[in-house]
Amino acid sequence: MVKSYEALLEKAYSQISEPETETGRWSCPEPKVMLEGKTTILENFVDILDSIRRDEDHFMKYLLSELGTAGKIDGTRAIFNGKFESALFNGLVSGYVQDYVICSECGKPDTRLVKDDRVLILRCDACGSHRPVRKRKARAAPTGSNIEVGSIIDAHITSVSKRGDGVAKSGKYIIYVANSKPGQVIKVKVARISGSIIFTERV
Ligand SMILES: [Zn+2]
Repeated sequence: MVKSYEALLEKAYSQISEPETETGRWSCPEPKVMLEGKTTILENFVDILDSIRRDEDHFMKYLLSELGTAGKIDGTRAIFNGKFESALFNGLVSGYVQDYVICSECGKPDTRLVKDDRVLILRCDACGSHRPVRKRKARAAPTGSNIEVGSIIDAHITSVSKRGDGVAKSGKYIIYVANSKPGQVIKVKVARISGSIIFTERV
């Protein structure tokens, strides 16, 4: 059956991506994370992808390698083996946005990733600038501290975050621990360090 001209036209229009018309600060949707058995589900994987307009394999690979686990894309969601806190996903998504989406010149997200002689370049359509994608920062904490990713630490929970995670402090660090209450001391593994914020997993 031959499709009508109108139908083709409509299809063509629907495939043109809308230019970013909003003014003000762009932000991508907050990760919606839930636990299902021994897996963690990123419910709005595709929503985030639509917002950041990146390749799903690239984004998924990044998440898997940062989480150090296996997983798969399942329709509009992504499934990861193991239990991870939602705070961890917030950190990962914002890390990805900083490294692979936001233009460091103008701060806009209207960018594309292009390969130039094996180097991944972030090209900005808004201001025309381009830069090589920043190498992932070393995962170790700043010198003078012995806290690094993988370290096992005792978190002395002193307060509760807005999201309901327990909060502990150690030197300049703020440590988030899921399912914990003030007064508890909990052994946790450092899963990610973002500035002075530490995301943890139970051990
Ligand atoms: Zn720019």
